[in-house]
Amino acid sequence: MGYVLSQDGFTRVLGKIGESRRIYAPVNKVGEGRYTDVDVVRYDFVTEASQIEMEKKSDYAFKELLTPLSQTLFFFTEEEVKEADMDEREVIIFLRSCDLHAVKRLDAIYLENKFEDPFYKRIREKVKFALIGCGHSYEDCFCVSMGTNRADGGYLFSVDLIDGKYYFDVKDDELAAVFAAEAESEENVEARYVTENEVKVTIPAEVPISIYKDPLWDEYTARCINCGRCNFVCPTCTCYTMQDVFYTDNGRVGERRRVGASCMVDGYTNVAGGGQYRRTNGERMRFKVLHKIVDFRKRFGYDMCVGCGRCDMVCPEYISYANIINKVNDAVEGGAVNG
Ligand code: SF4
Ligand code: SF4
Repeated sequence: MGYVLSQDGFTRVLGKIGESRRIYAPVNKVGEGRYTDVDVVRYDFVTEASQIEMEKKSDYAFKELLTPLSQTLFFFTEEEVKEADMDEREVIIFLRSCDLHAVKRLDAIYLENKFEDPFYKRIREKVKFALIGCGHSYEDCFCVSMGTNRADGGYLFSVDLIDGKYYFDVKDDELAAVFAAEAESEENVEARYVTENEVKVTIPAEVPISIYKDPLWDEYTARCINCGRCNFVCPTCTCYTMQDVFYTDNGRVGERRRVGASCMVDGYTNVAGGGQYRRTNGERMRFKVLHKIVDFRKRFGYDMCVGCGRCDMVCPEYISYANIINKVNDAVEGGAVNG
């Protein structure tokens, strides 16, 4: 079911479906970027169509809505443990095709990885998605190489903004009536998607164990400053650590929090006795890259990286993850390793 709406009509739809749901979308935050004159696009609660950033790619992914950077899991006293309360309303998140494919990765990691994570599951069960179509490719995207350029379902409706009008392909019967009531016209609508990116990567089918000793990683020991920014913008990075916060001096009353962590940051692999599994930034880069294009695939049958390009956009050292994938491929094929 396809509908064409004005911006005001779309706002009225958001008001109607927002009566019983929380709606989140990418929002352009003016002057809140890396420098005071730089904007940043990140997720926030929205009530009006004009708040939704339809043109720019979001700098940060939706994942903080499913896996908060700091999440209280439960409270404890000497006598009992109580799970933290949560907002029980349904949530709708606007995202692009690559990010919808990232949800599949998060679900695999948290729900299909031997055990179900109950704290992820209870949030995930509330969440549904709205697809933002891509009318063109963006800088650093390589979704076509990763096969994530087109969403094959899994969303309530899609939206494209073309010449000031919003075009919706509504998959949900209940919501279709809400859109129909505000529509200027009804016509066949299909979410736009890209078929080519400027950036292309080739992922080797098999990666020999010798890649762990390859000198290509040494460059990143020198260049990477282990800030972890690449992890925090990535829609598929899921590492976290645990923190117990005590309210009393005796340490018996408090809360347990799950807090986002980064495999690139110093200390992430510290173990008892002063050991550290990955000491150099090159070793950390090797772990991150091979996890996303080799190890995850061994377990789940597809790659973890969705080619959103955010890690390339955010790196202060201009390190390109896409370039590294191609270097791994070159090394595997025995070709030149440079770039
Ligand atoms: S953003 Fe760049 S410099 Fe920072 S940890 Fe990632 S690769 Fe290293
Ligand atoms: S590794 Fe980089 S390109 Fe791949 S999903 Fe994460 S942020 Fe996007």
